[in-house]
Amino acid sequence: MDLLDGSLVTLADAVRDGTISALEVADATLARISAAGADATGTYLDVDAERTRAQARAVDDKRARGEALGALAGVPIGLKDALCTRDARTTCGSKILEGFRPPYDATAVARLRAADAVFTGKLNMDEFAMGSSNENSAYGPVKNPWDPTRVPGGSSGGSAVAVASGLAHATLGSDTGGSIRQPAALCGVVGLKPTYGRVSRYGLVAFASSLDQIGPFARDVRGAARVLEVIAGHDGHDATSVPRPVEDFVGACGRDPKGLRVGVPEEYLRAAGDSGLEPDVQASIEQALRALEGLGCTLVPIHMPHTRHAVATYYVVATAEASSNLARFDGVRYGVRVDPGRDLEAMYGATRDRGFGAEVKRRILLGTYVLSAGYYDAYYTKALKVRTLIRRDFEAAFAQCDVIAGPTSPQVAWPLGEKVDDPLKMYLADVFTLPASLAGVPGISVPAAPSKTGLPIGLQLVADAWQEARLLTLAHAFEQVSPAKGLRPSAIAR
Ligand code: GLN
Repeated sequence: MDLLDGSLVTLADAVRDGTISALEVADATLARISAAGADATGTYLDVDAERTRAQARAVDDKRARGEALGALAGVPIGLKDALCTRDARTTCGSKILEGFRPPYDATAVARLRAADAVFTGKLNMDEFAMGSSNENSAYGPVKNPWDPTRVPGGSSGGSAVAVASGLAHATLGSDTGGSIRQPAALCGVVGLKPTYGRVSRYGLVAFASSLDQIGPFARDVRGAARVLEVIAGHDGHDATSVPRPVEDFVGACGRDPKGLRVGVPEEYLRAAGDSGLEPDVQASIEQALRALEGLGCTLVPIHMPHTRHAVATYYVVATAEASSNLARFDGVRYGVRVDPGRDLEAMYGATRDRGFGAEVKRRILLGTYVLSAGYYDAYYTKALKVRTLIRRDFEAAFAQCDVIAGPTSPQVAWPLGEKVDDPLKMYLADVFTLPASLAGVPGISVPAAPSKTGLPIGLQLVADAWQEARLLTLAHAFEQVSPAKGLRPSAIAR
């Protein structure tokens, strides 16, 4: 079905005007999910065809009653399993939340529902969104559709793969240090992390609260813009949600980027040795920069000197916040049911079996350590100071340029298993996404020229806080001239 592989905006318009029914779209998507078999099982943690079809039917009924349909009418959307959903279990990729059924929808989820989107299911992810490869999920890894022996990136691996494989039209993920942009880059789709405060996190299982943001994955930039328009905006349920107007983000796609000043951090493309930047990634990004010049943008050399401290800073701040946020999972209130008939020994045994995985434990320990009385100043206070310096790098940069461009990930998707025994190696893969997270500014990953072996590479564009419209204008213009335009993984089920 052509509409299923076309743009999100076209699909929603077709459902709105009755060219196709929401149920036909849902059935076609469900057929793909079942045809994908084991691959879909790895990508989705929860699919319920009847639930999806009922939601689609409700959209069609609404239209039949003569009511106007919303901006995402009939669009099949998958949700990272970190988002609370009232009609589906929410595990956050963890055994400790097995069997948890939230009594409410996350605000972003409720807004998608109100816009007449149709949910395909809950998507696999690294446990508690901790990871860069999706190998930390308690429910098994997700495979990259471009090469099933490789990782999809993380932590929103399932969200990226569902879009890349056509098993959802768009998805939501969460990005604390790169978990939307990096898997989008490794899977060849668009992924957008909004400004901190743009999208309510109410109902998102918390990882590191000063960093977490919800954002969309889509096949094209306009699709991501449409989803952002729906989920953005003030929400009284999240104290960090900022009351700012939601702009016409779809309209921003299609504006001429001519005259935009694009900052190119000298440190990013030069320091191949330090950042582990692969030559293919470097070549692809250099080609992308020339394409931006071809669109009438001016390249401005800039400096981001504190980027080299971003990994250390992030892994202190994020683990500190995680150790505090995860204290609520004490094995009593969530997951394992307290059974009065069971003796204590058996109850705690069950809790242990269903407890946290190794990476989550490592982070709780590290976070507790950096917050402990004897080490607080040496690690936590210090990290907050460096975070300020990183933020100032951005302030200085945005005095000289409108958007910063560079690689999203220093590497293409790596083989499954390659970094699982070396957490530090895994953390270093986040070097280019962490700075924008620490500064709270928006970033997007757009597919650029693939590697020589045909693996996706993402161009990361970062703008100043609240400048998503500008970011989308440039991303959309680049998408039209990108050598990745129209490329899809060949091995996917059809
Ligand atoms: N890879 C980073 C981490 O492991 C970022 C994760 C995220 O953005 N949720 O913490």
